[in-house]
Amino acid sequence: MVRTKGYPEALEKKLHDQRYYREDSTADFMKRVEASSRTIAHMCYQCGTCTGSCPSAPRSTYRIRKFMRRAVLGFETEALTDPDLWLCTTCYSCTDRCPRDIAPTDVIMSMRNMAFTHDIIPVNFLKTVTAIYASGHGVPNNDVNRAAREKLGLTRDPPTTHMYPEYMPAIRKILDHYHLKENADRIIKEREG
Ligand code: SF4
Ligand code: SF4
Repeated sequence: MVRTKGYPEALEKKLHDQRYYREDSTADFMKRVEASSRTIAHMCYQCGTCTGSCPSAPRSTYRIRKFMRRAVLGFETEALTDPDLWLCTTCYSCTDRCPRDIAPTDVIMSMRNMAFTHDIIPVNFLKTVTAIYASGHGVPNNDVNRAAREKLGLTRDPPTTHMYPEYMPAIRKILDHYHLKENADRIIKEREG
């Protein structure tokens, strides 16, 4: 919660009260994180093994342990609006090593899913949705690769939706069920104008 006294915006930001208050906590945040991540986030006792394992931590301000704390304390807005949420490579090193058998990686996945429902998502994810909707591939084939495949004695397209586009309607149906393409198009349009 931001507690300031109506100073100009820049100053207000500087004076932002960084203490935590009970009302900053969203009571059911941790439960929702646990329900979608299927991991026991509330068992975290902040040992720091996860951050010590993380390849993103030495190169950025991303701290998986901090996100675990936010999950436990219910700091939903703070977690979902932090750009560092998108720096996890999902390498699963933290999950491999957590002494409490927690999967912090899956906590991050859960928070990313929640962030997307608030339109908080890097545009590359949206472009991937668009590519899959168009071709069934996040990284579709192209003419340079088709020529290279031919040289190797392969078919120009692999035996996927590229070769069998009749399967595309079924893929689109799944994406449409979750309104993924619709939301991706809307957010891209809002960002790019
Ligand atoms: S390794 Fe596990 S218990 Fe330790 S801080 Fe990370 S999530 Fe919590
Ligand atoms: S899965 Fe994500 S948070 Fe865990 S160690 Fe790898 S990059 Fe870090």
